[in-house]
Amino acid sequence: MQTSFPPEALADPAMRASEEVIRKCVHCGFCTATCPTYVLLGDELDSPRGRIYLMKDMLENQREPSAEVVKHIDRCLSCLSCMTTCPSGVNYMHLVDHARAYINERYERPRAERFFRGLLAAVLPYPERFRLSLTLAPLARPFRGLLRRVAALRPLAAMLDLAPASVPAPVLAQSTRLRTHAGRVAMLQGCAEPVLRPQIREAAVRLLNRCGQDVIFAPNEGCCGALVHHMGREQDALDAARRNVDAWTAEIERAGLDAIIITASGCGTTIKDYGFMLRGDPAYAEKAARVSALAVDVTEYLAKIGLPPSAAKNVTVAYHPACSLQHGQKVIDAPKRLLAEAGFAVRVPAEAHLCCGSAGTYNILQSEIADTLGRRKADHIDRLQADVIATGNIGCATQIARFAGAPVVHTVELLDWATGGPKPAALRHFPQE
Ligand code: SF4
Ligand code: SF4
Repeated sequence: MQTSFPPEALADPAMRASEEVIRKCVHCGFCTATCPTYVLLGDELDSPRGRIYLMKDMLENQREPSAEVVKHIDRCLSCLSCMTTCPSGVNYMHLVDHARAYINERYERPRAERFFRGLLAAVLPYPERFRLSLTLAPLARPFRGLLRRVAALRPLAAMLDLAPASVPAPVLAQSTRLRTHAGRVAMLQGCAEPVLRPQIREAAVRLLNRCGQDVIFAPNEGCCGALVHHMGREQDALDAARRNVDAWTAEIERAGLDAIIITASGCGTTIKDYGFMLRGDPAYAEKAARVSALAVDVTEYLAKIGLPPSAAKNVTVAYHPACSLQHGQKVIDAPKRLLAEAGFAVRVPAEAHLCCGSAGTYNILQSEIADTLGRRKADHIDRLQADVIATGNIGCATQIARFAGAPVVHTVELLDWATGGPKPAALRHFPQE
């Protein structure tokens, strides 16, 4: 695509990077067919190509973001399906991340939107605050119907829809030290996952230990920054990235790390991008690139080191590939292959490339589109008549569990069970073994 950014705009490295992305787009439109919002809404401006045009016009002309442009960018799930489809290698992720930061700096949202975005940024990345908010959710639940009828309050209704009926007791993340080990890995504690499902981390630690891996939790590490990054809050995202880079760099320098393991693929996509995010910071660029190079999804790492012996469970699994795993990280075969190796019968639903509607805070801020996508995804999964649904991202697990018939677990919970761990809590009423 031809561009005509003024030279003074191109003095900004972020603008220069976006211009390079835009120039790669040949406006062929292949990406439209696999974009969930275009599939649902049929509006070119809700397709990747349409959004690229909108972002080009806004950035190239240094325009103040209009409400119309913000609407279409906000409707993007950042599912990155368009990046898998694009034959020209357009890095839509970096472009939309930049556009969101640009909008966040220059656009004044209506008061209610500002409030909910601020609330999410102040609560979700902090496990204790998030746990407290979930504990208080039952008090507001009776007003859900009322809240849903007021457009400005719909995010609150969506938060209540997503809050679990009960909050698991907190589980301390404990580093392990094996007598003899084949590897030493750090695991991301993160923010939302250990609050909503601490059993994922426990299963991953047990499984990695069984594979001879020492697992450490680096002091001072926390939320990866993805949630605020996708809301355009660039400084908050960079602060989170720097804090984690410091925490893991200390571990690398202390005793070395073979990998940084991530069990929530949404976080993995962001951590693998720390090198790009911090490329302009001389104090962090090299360290961040090293952290990104070590970052792997837990299934990616297990596929590399191999599973311990397993006992087949006579269980059929519907595997839902999270967008951040299949499109963001291109980890496509490893989870299915590991499940099959561990003795599960694996099925993949139709339209597996389409997002379930979770997408970070999307199912709170764009709940109508998210719910439609969630139901569509659950319909396809239910048709498989599987015993259990497996996925690699806590956001997908929470979203799909609202609509699908079968219980939802993380892939590592099944792999842990098959290789000697306990049966996942979500399957406790499951009769077969
Ligand atoms: S598929 Fe790629 S090159 Fe074609 S319109 Fe979409 S982003 Fe542009
Ligand atoms: S990231 Fe997903 S929703 Fe956004 S334009 Fe690409 S395919 Fe569409």
